[in-house]
Amino acid sequence: MHSVLVYHTISEPVEPLPGDIDIPRRRFLRQVQWLARWRRVARLEDTLSNSGKSLTAITFDDGFRDNLTVALPLLEKFNLPMTLFVSAAFVGREGYLSPHELREIARHPLVTIGAHGLWHRHFTQLSTQDARAELLASRSLLQTITAQSIDFMAWPFGECNEELEALSRECGYRAAWSVWKGSNDTYSRWRVPLGRRDNLIRFIAKVSGAYALTKAKWHRTRTPGETPVTTAPELQPQSNHLY
Ligand SMILES: [Zn+2]
Repeated sequence: MHSVLVYHTISEPVEPLPGDIDIPRRRFLRQVQWLARWRRVARLEDTLSNSGKSLTAITFDDGFRDNLTVALPLLEKFNLPMTLFVSAAFVGREGYLSPHELREIARHPLVTIGAHGLWHRHFTQLSTQDARAELLASRSLLQTITAQSIDFMAWPFGECNEELEALSRECGYRAAWSVWKGSNDTYSRWRVPLGRRDNLIRFIAKVSGAYALTKAKWHRTRTPGETPVTTAPELQPQSNHLY
């Protein structure tokens, strides 16, 4: 089974960011070292087909500047590819990639750029018209900045449904990724979120795919107000990710 990992920012803010999305550089480095040694890390595109081999792909959401300044130099050392899903309207904001930096990182041979909406909105709460506008405008803006074709996208907050999956296809995307939501088919492929609390043991469990099975089961069995008791604590899914 392939696994696709989701990172956000490789940084250590004084106040942890909401949603458990920051990971210190040293912790990320240990994870990258482990991946380079034990896993077959591939381009995201390679995880679209079942090759018989179990592949791991690395993705980053939102378009944080440290993806260029911190993550890429580490991944380069091990020659591991990365995909950045960029919220197009965040480009140029403080803490995010500038248009110039996005153009620079997009040209790197290890890097693929995908879209992540325009304003990082909750797509399941948008009208079809607004969802379509977000899907098209984000793609078009990123294509203009990078001078590359943008074929992939990831749903902000991982949120999607059947109608949105069809819409993203209609808007010209070749594939889309969620985080545990949707059908886990071409336009809502599941990814494994990582955060500051993922020590190496927990990281390995998540990458191995055991976590995905647990999480899927957790989704099926979960009822409001009830905490699942069937899972080892280190494998219990976190529910406060923001993606
Ligand atoms: Zn996001």
